[in-house]
Amino acid sequence: QFPRPSGLLQAENLTFRYIPDGQPTVDTVNITMKPGSMLGLAGRNGSGKSTLLKLLMGLYKPDVGRVMLDGADVSQFSRADLADWVGYAPQDPMLFTGTIRDNLLRAAPDIDDEALILACTRAGLHSFVIDLPDGYSTQIGEAGGRLAGGLRQRLSLARALLRDPPVLLLDEPSNNLDPMGEETLRRTLIELASGGRTIVLVSHSVQLLTACSVIALMDHGKVVQAGPPNDI
Ligand code: ATP
Ligand code: MG
Repeated sequence: QFPRPSGLLQAENLTFRYIPDGQPTVDTVNITMKPGSMLGLAGRNGSGKSTLLKLLMGLYKPDVGRVMLDGADVSQFSRADLADWVGYAPQDPMLFTGTIRDNLLRAAPDIDDEALILACTRAGLHSFVIDLPDGYSTQIGEAGGRLAGGLRQRLSLARALLRDPPVLLLDEPSNNLDPMGEETLRRTLIELASGGRTIVLVSHSVQLLTACSVIALMDHGKVVQAGPPNDI
């Protein structure tokens, strides 16, 4: 019904409460992002960054306002279209018992090996996996017990990249990465953005935030300051 969007992402007066009569967790947020731009969401713990990302992903229904992709309200898109067009890497990625390949492809069984390897290479996962004796067939235990923190984050990023979506929503993607891993991620994100993707990134990392075209600082659900990295 809808063609693949170019990645123009807008939030209009976005307001959301977890508790019906409580304080808004996201409060009157307005965002406009062109394809090729990268927005960094910063702010202290509990300021609403992850909730805003979930709203952008269409996971929650806003109390007020809307999220639009290429001018169409995301609530009109089917689940399948959203999964194709918006890649989301949550703050606490869910892993389950099974192989690395199972964990990557559970929600995307139609992805071929070429796309899988491209996504994993971009996520900095491929080189780790091929060093394991069983490669992509390596079993990971319950809750990813056998996967070190950094690999878990990379796996989550790889999942978000599988369909090479025009929009990427990444919640603290450099958590548990070492400085080298973070630097590689920074370059990858810059490359993806210059290739025309729209990226929203939640991060506490100065290194990642300074790579963004705009940083928005959140406090109590509101964007209290926004501008290019040098101004924040
Ligand atoms: P952090 O930097 O710790 O990840 P954050 O900026 O991502 O924080 P959110 O996770 O969006 O913040 O949480 C914002 C507020 O909403 C917090 O007060 C949190 O306790 C509350 N909250 C988050 N998820 C839920 C939920 N599912 N139900 C009720 N309240 C929630
Ligand atoms: Mg968060």
